[in-house]
Amino acid sequence: MNKANKELLLQKLKTKMERDKKLPLLSSNLVFGEGSVNARIVFIGEAPGVNEDRERRPFIGRSGKLLTSCLEEIGLEREDVYITNIVKRRPPENRDPSLEEIEAYHPYLREQLAIIKPKIIITLGRFALNYFIPDIKISQNQGKIFRFEKNLILIPMFHPAAALRGTKVLNQFKETFYEVARVLGSIK
Ligand code: URA
Repeated sequence: MNKANKELLLQKLKTKMERDKKLPLLSSNLVFGEGSVNARIVFIGEAPGVNEDRERRPFIGRSGKLLTSCLEEIGLEREDVYITNIVKRRPPENRDPSLEEIEAYHPYLREQLAIIKPKIIITLGRFALNYFIPDIKISQNQGKIFRFEKNLILIPMFHPAAALRGTKVLNQFKETFYEVARVLGSIK
């Protein structure tokens, strides 16, 4: 599918979401996702925070700045990848998303990924990881490479907010970007 078709399909999906009044968290803004529609890497976080809700853009606060600087470290711009969340509206008080919320937004994320067709999915934090692979621990799987489906690799990473809370996690988080660059190079 060419770039223009992908952009059109994503725009249609976004409009469908905006009109879907059965979705939970309707008092928050829709943060659909952004980046290259031809991205080979898609980063998937948990749910938007207060800054993301205000700007309707994913990962633009402190976590997002860390993500962007780690991407630049391996020679990628934010615009080279696609960034989104499993739940696309902010839960009140930044609480964890509920199972019902994750389930409700699931068909939209599935469709978004089917349009973009990335080669690598990077989950940020445990909620995004367990969305794809239930019952495994982020602490034991950070940076591992899962051949998730034919032609699709999944790499779990700590949530950047967790990386900002401690040096050990931050170092592991940063190191995983070099692994991502290596994997990306091998599938070129
Ligand atoms: N945390 C997330 O999981 N997603 C965002 O978009 C911002 C912060």
